[in-house]
Amino acid sequence: MAELRPYPFPLLIERMFGELAAQDKIFDLPRRRFVCGDPARDTSVVFHGRRAATPFGPAAGPQSQLAQNIVLSFLVGGRIIELKTVQIKDELEIPRPCIDMQTIGFNVEWSQELKLEQSAREYVKASMLIEMLRQSGLLGFSAPFGAVIYDMSVGYDLAGITSPPVRRFLDTMLDASALIEEYRAKIPRQFRRYADLDFAARISNTLTLSTFHGCPPDEIERIVDFLLREYDLHCIIKLNPTLLGPERMKELLHDKLGYDELRVPTSAFDNDTKWDQAVDFVGRLGETAAQRGLGFGVKFTNTLIVENHRDFFPGSEREMYMSGPPLHVLAISLVEQFRERFADQYTVSFSAGIDRKNFADAVACGLTPVTACSDLLKPSGYARAHGYFDELYRRMKDVGARDIDTFVLLCHGQGRQTVDEIVDDPQLQQQWLAALTEPGAHPRDVIGAQRFDQWVAATKQRNSALYAAEARDDARYHRAQNSKPPKKIGSRLVLLDCISCDKCVPVCPNDANFTFVLPRGPIDVLKARCEDGHWLLSTAEPLEVKQAHQIGNFADFCNECGNCDIFCPEDGGPYAIKPRFFGSLADFETFTSHDGFVFATRDGLLVLCGRFSGNDYRVELRAPTEHRYVGQGFDVTFDPAQIERTIAGHAEDEVDLTYHTLLVAIHRAVVAAPTQNYVALLAK
Ligand code: SF4
Ligand code: SF4
Repeated sequence: MAELRPYPFPLLIERMFGELAAQDKIFDLPRRRFVCGDPARDTSVVFHGRRAATPFGPAAGPQSQLAQNIVLSFLVGGRIIELKTVQIKDELEIPRPCIDMQTIGFNVEWSQELKLEQSAREYVKASMLIEMLRQSGLLGFSAPFGAVIYDMSVGYDLAGITSPPVRRFLDTMLDASALIEEYRAKIPRQFRRYADLDFAARISNTLTLSTFHGCPPDEIERIVDFLLREYDLHCIIKLNPTLLGPERMKELLHDKLGYDELRVPTSAFDNDTKWDQAVDFVGRLGETAAQRGLGFGVKFTNTLIVENHRDFFPGSEREMYMSGPPLHVLAISLVEQFRERFADQYTVSFSAGIDRKNFADAVACGLTPVTACSDLLKPSGYARAHGYFDELYRRMKDVGARDIDTFVLLCHGQGRQTVDEIVDDPQLQQQWLAALTEPGAHPRDVIGAQRFDQWVAATKQRNSALYAAEARDDARYHRAQNSKPPKKIGSRLVLLDCISCDKCVPVCPNDANFTFVLPRGPIDVLKARCEDGHWLLSTAEPLEVKQAHQIGNFADFCNECGNCDIFCPEDGGPYAIKPRFFGSLADFETFTSHDGFVFATRDGLLVLCGRFSGNDYRVELRAPTEHRYVGQGFDVTFDPAQIERTIAGHAEDEVDLTYHTLLVAIHRAVVAAPTQNYVALLAK
């Protein structure tokens, strides 16, 4: 089943605080990976007039889809969180797998896989969970470091965006009081101290428009005009890398970076916005926004549409979307071009190949927010963002920057170059430069706010040009350094046991994979046969559980994107081979082409269902001494401690009792797992 199922709010609260208390983790992310700020440095930025504690956030994508993903993004320092794009078509059929991270990063993903109303609910739940965490004092950072902005993302055309369902979504995000009250009432009794929190009813009043590949420029303009005028939303337009034009694209992608195999369809250049058209609508929309006292800007960039030259995606996908290292160079080159034209007049948001090594450079270009996606799908997952901040703090410290503005001025030494654009007097210039690193008054107070901001703005432009040139020449973005897939060791996954590297847990953006402990040792292979009213038992070579450490997959959070398969050293894909646990009996019964398990209560009885190689087995735990075991052609009862003596019932053929043993053992192991998991909480 590739459909996502949101998890109940009260159980998310239980899991979040329970796991933190018992294991010092939240949603499998260890506390040592939480980003808690650096008391010596202020990383806050202003986005559309509001302050966010960092310029970092997930790009609208897999890391901002479900409530727990958004919480994880927050825990690793995300403070401008671009929520996954919603659109009118909320029943998409997406080919699976849909993410190919073998090399640079390709996908055939689209927008939210949830319905519009479910999306709004996930965003409200996430905002409430984050507020509870902030107010708990358990995260180890001061209140201002919790300041977070949720940025909506909608697509893809005017008809969809102005349709009643999308309008309802926007209205809910602008005023979620009804949903907040509904969820407030669901806060479990042991967490009632959070029930009186002043949860913000306005989840978001900013929006990044996701225009799909091929959206005509006049349509983009009409959409943003509508959002500015009718909804008073601060707006960002996410632009396509095709804005570079075919010649510059070829020069960068092929000649400079060496990705000769990538072909951008000619139609993409024909249909997408051209540079001059973008310049025109940015000017007009910027004016409308200014007249209405609203923020406005652009985002570089959307993914790059390319012809599908690989055989990774199933079906007949003719095109796919490229992200990762080469996109970084394309997007930063567009930032340079945009800043040359508009200087620092508009907010520039960024998403393209952000990683530990370039995050601080993007911040020094004054990009806000700097968002990441592909890198967070690699081993360690969300925790990789911790490294972004380590680097940012190190580089801020190295140049003596106390905050982001002074970092912009000091990072590449360009503040020294631009100071004479603002002030002529050499003595004053020295005074300004000294004020950047001297303790005491902030240089803005020494220099005056207007002139200081002018100085920062001029330096952002210089930094952008300097860094774009550096990135184009940096071999780490070139094909030669980005063509090796992750290592496979040549063995094939089976239901139980593997090399237990645990890579599949953090690489899942939805936190669907988890670990549990199954006692090592033999599992009896036992068969029962009824002959003339007498039951006879036979045994065969027992199965051997060699590892106590096992991997499970929670089907409700797994959209079969395929990412854990890419990074698992063994073949087959953890999500496809490892025990899959459905959250409901209904799903287990609907998705019959999937093997898996479900633990449910029916008529007051605990029922364990399992599907092995397409065959269904059910165990009803009537009493510790009475198990009913049902499968195709048999329905028997027995006391598991003395099967031979107690077995009774009907069987058309031999009954394989091994699946009974496996079901009982796996249920016991998952429900009693020392680490928290979603299956155990649901089964409580
Ligand atoms: S478990 Fe694997 S396939 Fe499923 S959502 Fe997570 S990464 Fe994707
Ligand atoms: S399933 Fe694969 S990635 Fe997961 S622990 Fe086992 S070997 Fe590692």
